[in-house]
Amino acid sequence: MSNPLSIYNSLSRQKEVFEPLHPPFAGMYVCGPTVYSNAHLGHARPAITFDLLFRYLTHLGYQVRYVRNITDVGHLENDADEGEDKIVKTARLQNLEPMEVVQKYMNTFHRNMDQLNTLKPSIEPRASGHIIEQQELVRQLLRKGFAYEINGSVYFDVEKYNRKYKYGKLSGRILEDLMANTRELEGQDEKRNPFDFALWKKAAPGHLMKWPSDWSDGYPGWHLECSAMSIKYLGEVFDIHGGGMDLQFPHHECEIAQSTAALGKESVRYWVHNNMITINGQKMARSLGNFITLDQIFRGDHPLLEQAFSPMTVRFFILQAHYRSTLDFSNEALIAAGKGYQRLMKAVETLGNLKPSAASTVDIEDLSEKCALAMNDDLNTPILISHLFDGVKIINSVNDGTEKIDDKGIEALRKLFDDYVFKILGLRDETQDSKTDDLAEELMKIIIDLRGEARTRKDFTTSDRIRDELKKAGVTIKDTKDGVKWERG
Ligand code: ZN
Repeated sequence: MSNPLSIYNSLSRQKEVFEPLHPPFAGMYVCGPTVYSNAHLGHARPAITFDLLFRYLTHLGYQVRYVRNITDVGHLENDADEGEDKIVKTARLQNLEPMEVVQKYMNTFHRNMDQLNTLKPSIEPRASGHIIEQQELVRQLLRKGFAYEINGSVYFDVEKYNRKYKYGKLSGRILEDLMANTRELEGQDEKRNPFDFALWKKAAPGHLMKWPSDWSDGYPGWHLECSAMSIKYLGEVFDIHGGGMDLQFPHHECEIAQSTAALGKESVRYWVHNNMITINGQKMARSLGNFITLDQIFRGDHPLLEQAFSPMTVRFFILQAHYRSTLDFSNEALIAAGKGYQRLMKAVETLGNLKPSAASTVDIEDLSEKCALAMNDDLNTPILISHLFDGVKIINSVNDGTEKIDDKGIEALRKLFDDYVFKILGLRDETQDSKTDDLAEELMKIIIDLRGEARTRKDFTTSDRIRDELKKAGVTIKDTKDGVKWERG
């Protein structure tokens, strides 16, 4: 099996060696969402980036175990160890059980991910379901002397870790600089150093979501779950760890420290980070009023949106940029992406109807090689898409008779589009959905008319049969004052 992946990774770049994965298996762990609000534009990019990687590794023949966690406890408001747990806070504000909050936003996240046509991970573990594993890791770190307990909470000793291993490898931060630049410890702060981070926090009285432990009734620190669950499901050393660039520090840096200190070796072979999405050049933030949820985009109901944008338009828009580049969201950019996507889908339809000639004037093999090279060059989707548009030109030229293609050429071109457009880029043809909808509308009109005629002539056997058969097929018809309506389900 070929192993052409040359994924950027600051760790292996330092070594200047790209080590191969272990075919045929590849383990991939991606930091998933903290489910305390509706999924937004910022969730779409990592989801699509790692879906692309998952799909591509699978296409290359790897058997991928793709683990993406759900954070449902321990993620405090400001990413350091301060503030309220994000889920507990939402539960308090919405007057819900914390697990109701988790379920509610996890459901929305999953629905949005389906709309974006991302494949489901192989395992989707939740932090609250792995308290025992996390406590075991805390015990291991205490035993090895990289953690200390104070007043029922346990913290990771970054300075001690830094003496044996280097802290900050991934983000390029140097502990001495961090020490010089961090604020003085506030009086009530019980950590030895401000950059130490919580492994276990003692719960305040009345705190929701807490578990008994050797140290206190409490809850795990945010970074701990990813070390515990990646080791549990992918082993002590695994191939790829992914997430958004905003997670590099402190989250991933802390994960590296925990896993390395516990195992005595580095756990992750390749770190892959997607860049962020900005909106009209600005960082996305609730306080700036430019926080757009995926549902708002799909429906077009946000003051910044001129229209609705379909899930495949959003997916195509994200894939048009390299995952490590910044990407700016604007109406114009989305409209342009929508047009590009439509052109691609139109070409796929034309490709289905192309007629072969005896000889070919076009070179599909060359195009196919270029597509593979683009993907092998650190998942260079913008280049891949430009090659696919060269394919669109070929399709249109053959269709209007300026170029010719033989049987074998058509077959190769169909395979190329099937592989790259649908299997790897993960696009689906939404234009077919509306056609199916239009057809369903017309067929239902005929059926409802026939049923109406049967009732007019008092042939209730026929009208009831139509209603019952439709019910079996998953269609409900209702008599309303505005006439007969139908719906699925
Ligand atoms: Zn994580």
